[in-house]
Amino acid sequence: MSKGTINVSVDNIFPLIKKFLYSDHEIFLRELISNATDATLKMKHLSNIGETEGAEYGNPIIEVKLDKKKKELRIIDQGIGMTKEEVEKYINEIAFSGAEEFLEKYKDKDGKDAGIIGHFGLGFYSAFMVAKKVEIITKSYKDEPAVHWACDGSPEFTLKKADKKERGTEIILHIADDSKEFLEESRIRELLVKYNKFMPIPIKFGTHTETLPKPEGAKEEDLDSAEATSGEGKVPTQEVDTIINNPNPAWTKQPTELEDKDYNSFYRELYPMQFEEPLFHIHLNVDYPFNLTGILYFPKMTNDMSIQKDKIQLYQNQVFVTDNVEGIVPEFLTMLRGVIDSPDIPLNVSRSYLQADGAVKKISSYITRKVADKLKSLFNSDREGFEKKWNDIKIVIEYGMLTEDKFFEKSQDFALYPTVDNAFYTFSELKEKIKDVQTDKDGNLVILYASNKEEQHSYIEAAKEKGYEVLLLDSPIVTHLLQKVESKEEKVSFVRVDSDHAENLIKKDDAQISKLSDEEKESLKTFLNGVIPKEKFSVQLEALDSNANPFIITEPEFMRRMKDMQKTGGGGGMFGMGGFPEMYNLIVNTNHELVGEIIKTKTEKKKERLVNQALDLARLSKNLLKGEELTAFIKRSYEMIK
Ligand code: ADP
Repeated sequence: MSKGTINVSVDNIFPLIKKFLYSDHEIFLRELISNATDATLKMKHLSNIGETEGAEYGNPIIEVKLDKKKKELRIIDQGIGMTKEEVEKYINEIAFSGAEEFLEKYKDKDGKDAGIIGHFGLGFYSAFMVAKKVEIITKSYKDEPAVHWACDGSPEFTLKKADKKERGTEIILHIADDSKEFLEESRIRELLVKYNKFMPIPIKFGTHTETLPKPEGAKEEDLDSAEATSGEGKVPTQEVDTIINNPNPAWTKQPTELEDKDYNSFYRELYPMQFEEPLFHIHLNVDYPFNLTGILYFPKMTNDMSIQKDKIQLYQNQVFVTDNVEGIVPEFLTMLRGVIDSPDIPLNVSRSYLQADGAVKKISSYITRKVADKLKSLFNSDREGFEKKWNDIKIVIEYGMLTEDKFFEKSQDFALYPTVDNAFYTFSELKEKIKDVQTDKDGNLVILYASNKEEQHSYIEAAKEKGYEVLLLDSPIVTHLLQKVESKEEKVSFVRVDSDHAENLIKKDDAQISKLSDEEKESLKTFLNGVIPKEKFSVQLEALDSNANPFIITEPEFMRRMKDMQKTGGGGGMFGMGGFPEMYNLIVNTNHELVGEIIKTKTEKKKERLVNQALDLARLSKNLLKGEELTAFIKRSYEMIK
């Protein structure tokens, strides 16, 4: 047996390791299983190139064993193992210097520097975050005796011969009193599922009982020899290893090997609590100029962008790293689900560094391009199906169009503009369709839209009456997107149907002919201004079609957009914290019979009642009449029909 001192520059680095990254102590298990996996894969490689000196690769697994009584957790692999010299070199020198360097770098940053740090790099020594003593018993594939290394968390270690016969490494953690949670089976299982669910070597954790299939034609007695059968007449059972991972997850396979049902079942594997099927998937697979594989899924989306608990998971060679992919994937795609696996994403860096990293930028634009290509091919191959899915995916697409210029350009091929009557146009189809009817006197193409079919019903009808197409654009960010489209397209403007009366939505040259004389108009205006609250409505007399409503409330496009944008962030602030005043236009159709009636009415009281009733009807159709005023309106209406 030999004793030694690990070459330490700091007096005692272990307390530091323990203190470090308090919330991330759990990563020790991932680090140790990663080492076990690496050692096993190295063995596989040596075996493939015929350099194992006669040792068989076999079907190795990694076993995690818990002994609560002895307060031990073991990780056992059948990898290449280590010789005495290798333990001295890799564990005492290299591993330690790695841990030391890592701590030097980050000890001043209280370990919380923006998330990703601490996920990688501490390696073997992270065991000391949870163990008061660590032992390694290892036998190399080379014909050399096994060795036993032990260290109790001080810089002293012991190294002696061991009698382990099988190739591989066994790490024994003597769990410290303050880390007892890691002696709980459920906690270890949780960690294995979180970090190791898709690692490439099978990981065994415990056993479970399985029912044996009854061999054909077998009599009851013949089954007595089966292991663990529990007496006569009972179903024969058997203890089998519980393997917690899927070593060959879908994303590591070629798209040609997979069918839709395989993608869907992998989705379920990733998100066991998700019962809805994804709408479609995108298989990512690139090896130049960087390495990246993965599968992204479009889930059914709602307008509530805040509900999004199942996130894209980031892996590095099948080891889970994080489910916070901010900075790696363009923001609009963070609403998707799935897996990205890349050895090329730098992990030991802060998030701000990550965002500036050249490789990460390339990854981000590659993913954007792949998503756009997939959408385009779905659109081209099955337009009807794409239209059906539109409402469930539009949030992602519209958000992408708004925030990524490249994506905006590509989206011209598949982004859809639905009408209130469920027709779907691409932007160029739409322009073609409406250009004759909806170009105003200055040559601007005016695109009409509604945001709510029910609330804006009367305005939609009035616009349709004039032969206009009305789009239904109801996503929360749509106002921002329209601004962008207007800035990219020449002579195109979007106008919501309730921003003016139908005649005025698209200004043509037709002169208006009024039934009223100038004096009549003057006296009507004076009267209306006396009755209608000035702080809420600005009264405008217009000579409209006599079939159009007598009173129409509108909200100028500009004002409403500013309000919308203030609600969804950005663009606002003009009116300070108090928000925008509730101000509308009241358009009075001087050609309507009722307006003629109002003018003719002699008694002030009756005249006032007509105006108020008409105003309330206009408010009702704009969804503005509520509460006390609505109650009063209903009461008044009953009285009128008495
Ligand atoms: P890293 O894995 O990043 O190299 P570690 O501190 O985790 O750093 O491990 C240091 C070295 O110790 C490894 O590179 C490897 O050579 C050796 N090692 C660790 N665990 C094992 C193991 N289970 N089997 C064989 N060698 C191992």
